[in-house]
Amino acid sequence: MSETPIVVVGAGLQGLCSALALVERGEPVRVIERREGPALETSYANAGMLTPSQPDPWNSPGVGKHLLQSLGRNDSAMLLRVRALPSLLGWGLRFLRNSSPSRHRRATRNVFALAQYSLGATAALRESLGLEYEASTLGTLKLFRDRKAFETSLGIVKRLAEAGLVFRALDADGLVAAEPMLAPVYGDFFAGLHFPGDECGDAHLFCQALAAQLEARGVRVETGVEVKSLRCHSGHVQGLELADGVVEAERVVVAAGCWSHALVRSAGLRLPVRPAKGYSLTVEARHLPERPALAVLDDHLHIAVVPLGTRLRIAGTAEFAGMDPRIRAPRVQNLVDHFLRIYPELAAELDLRAGTTWAGLRPMSADGLPLIGETAIRGLYLNTGHGQLGWTLAVGSGQVLADLVIGNPPGVEPNPYLASRAL
Ligand SMILES: Cc1cc2nc3c(=O)[nH]c(=O)nc-3n(C[C@H](O)[C@H](O)[C@H](O)COP(=O)(O)OP(=O)(O)OC[C@H]3O[C@@H](n4cnc5c(N)ncnc54)[C@H](O)[C@@H]3O)c2cc1C
Repeated sequence: MSETPIVVVGAGLQGLCSALALVERGEPVRVIERREGPALETSYANAGMLTPSQPDPWNSPGVGKHLLQSLGRNDSAMLLRVRALPSLLGWGLRFLRNSSPSRHRRATRNVFALAQYSLGATAALRESLGLEYEASTLGTLKLFRDRKAFETSLGIVKRLAEAGLVFRALDADGLVAAEPMLAPVYGDFFAGLHFPGDECGDAHLFCQALAAQLEARGVRVETGVEVKSLRCHSGHVQGLELADGVVEAERVVVAAGCWSHALVRSAGLRLPVRPAKGYSLTVEARHLPERPALAVLDDHLHIAVVPLGTRLRIAGTAEFAGMDPRIRAPRVQNLVDHFLRIYPELAAELDLRAGTTWAGLRPMSADGLPLIGETAIRGLYLNTGHGQLGWTLAVGSGQVLADLVIGNPPGVEPNPYLASRAL
């Protein structure tokens, strides 16, 4: 064990899970975070779902046509903005190259393996440390408005069942039996799938709990400190440049979400990760006599409605718009319109205008898999690129990263996720 601390850059889900896993393996760690607290970027108000059941990367066969059709359309679930095109060129070609049926199937299997491992690790951590983050273990209900979409999903799910995914197929009656709050829209949905192994919970609360666990172990999350660039020499990392000085380090873990790209660039590497903006609207539902119990995912509208304690979170949409964090009113309206189609009666009881709107940037890798482990620069590690599944994959990815750093065999075969495949 080296006495020089490993510096983890970023206190979102990946940075905090990496830091805790390293500390648990006896390594000295420092966490440096630009914002004023942990998890104030993409890990702040995501949909909150832990879904090994949804491992298929977004670059499914035919995605190119779909994205081109979305140009300039604010009502499209997946939207490509024209001005983002130049920043997406090289990455976009790789994203499309990975959308062949065989590559997409392989990536789906590999994401599923890491997600299953991660969910087990999340539950173990929750229980051993008594973490409280409004967790629910009731599973996800996926809703389908037509037979074709249902059958396509059923095909994917049946293949994953061979690898351990548990599911129940439900007809319209079964859907309402599983989630009685869907009764007013009985008949709108052709069928559904229930995934009892999925979970949900508030990622920001989870991150705050992890930061407290780190502090209890003597690791301070140094907030309000921005890393300006990485310092490397002769193929080795040497440290970090801050605004007011230099931190020397022989081992650095970049877990800076979408901002990892710029940091890694300062070391001369090109990270194939680009942002896909998503939105959420969180509404207080404490006053309602009955609230939905299950997280639901509408396959056609691409949105999720997730109970988090007494609140409901409506989340979704993907916008390739570069590093643009702005909250755009038409995209929020999109969420509201879709919510009205799932829970019209519930929506009438809620004050949606008093809800909290939020937008975050998902760090999307070009091949749909995260990048974990050492790069071509000795001592420079990554834990990023988890895209739409960064909460699902966080605890497991942190453990894989920590095992790779100390040279232990990880609890899941790490080859598909190694950062060295790309840099
Ligand atoms: C709308 C939406 C819904 C989602 N829903 C789900 C879901 O239901 N389930 C799921 O599994 N995933 C979901 N995700 C994805 C998930 O939220 C992300 O993959 C995950 O939060 C990424 O975590 P991260 O730690 O990589 O990045 P971040 O949370 O962005 O953390 C990176 C941190 O690094 C810091 N940083 C950046 N640059 C520097 C620097 N130079 N110096 C110091 N610090 C720096 C940032 O301030 C930030 O705190 C969703 C995402 C969105 C947008």
